[in-house]
Amino acid sequence: MTERYDLHCHSTASDGALTPTEVVLRAADCGVTALALTDHDTTAGLFEAQQQANLVGMRLIPGIELSINWQNKCFHVVGLGIDPNYAPLANATHLLQSTRLERAEKIAFKLEQKRIPGALLAVKKAAGDGMITRSHFAAFLVAQHHVSTQQEAFDRYLAQGKSAYVSTTWAELDVAINWITESGGVAVLAHPMRYKLTANWMSRLLTAFKEAGGLGIEVITSRMNPDELRRVADYAKRFDLAGSVGSDFHNPANPWVELGRLPALPEHIKPVWELLN
Ligand code: AMP
Ligand code: MN
Ligand code: MN
Ligand code: MN
Repeated sequence: MTERYDLHCHSTASDGALTPTEVVLRAADCGVTALALTDHDTTAGLFEAQQQANLVGMRLIPGIELSINWQNKCFHVVGLGIDPNYAPLANATHLLQSTRLERAEKIAFKLEQKRIPGALLAVKKAAGDGMITRSHFAAFLVAQHHVSTQQEAFDRYLAQGKSAYVSTTWAELDVAINWITESGGVAVLAHPMRYKLTANWMSRLLTAFKEAGGLGIEVITSRMNPDELRRVADYAKRFDLAGSVGSDFHNPANPWVELGRLPALPEHIKPVWELLN
């Protein structure tokens, strides 16, 4: 049987719209045979996802998407095949929940100063036991008619440099990669084209990423154009990184991004799943 991989997606454990059970069922419907659930800074959805994967006979790869700092910028690193019970990783996700709650309090305060009250209560309610993310704030701003789309919420309030932006201290690149690799996982640079780096900065980032033990890069993500795909494949080759394939699915309401609906990894790229056991 040929496998269909999707190694990057989100559930209600962070900013996804579907529960871990629903993500697994939808992935199965979409023909995915090997799925990694990679919620932001948390592994809380993995147990439920594994239960459901067992029921439908799907391979679930335990994952996470860690927010990291490098050179005072924020990037995302996906960990694949991690052990959620590895103590340093478990401790880190526990602390990150507080980091995210404190950040949420600060974002809500800034919104209040813009005469937008009630955000903290709303995002806490929406996130439940899961991680609070800026996506929750964006949904709140849409629901309260302060903006008409989540994109506009980021552009006007939540993106870096906007009025409700709060800079956050995440784990340093090498520290986060250590949590992943020491727990038995493979570190993959997420959606490299989304950072809008110059070629020079990208080379520096990938050099640091490799030095810290990073082994993979998302060569295939949703909504890439052919030129971007070619550029990322070139970086994978140049830096001898394995290629990953992940939709970054969040919400079925977004018709542009679906579980498992991705182009094939170019044949000259070593697949990251060959590094997973
Ligand atoms: P956080 O990790 O809390 O900073 O939230 C980041 C999440 O917000 C990302 O994973 C995306 O799901 C979402 N996001 C970030 N930037 C944008 C944007 N410009 N438009 C829509 N969603 C975004
Ligand atoms: Mn997200
Ligand atoms: Mn991301
Ligand atoms: Mn993601």
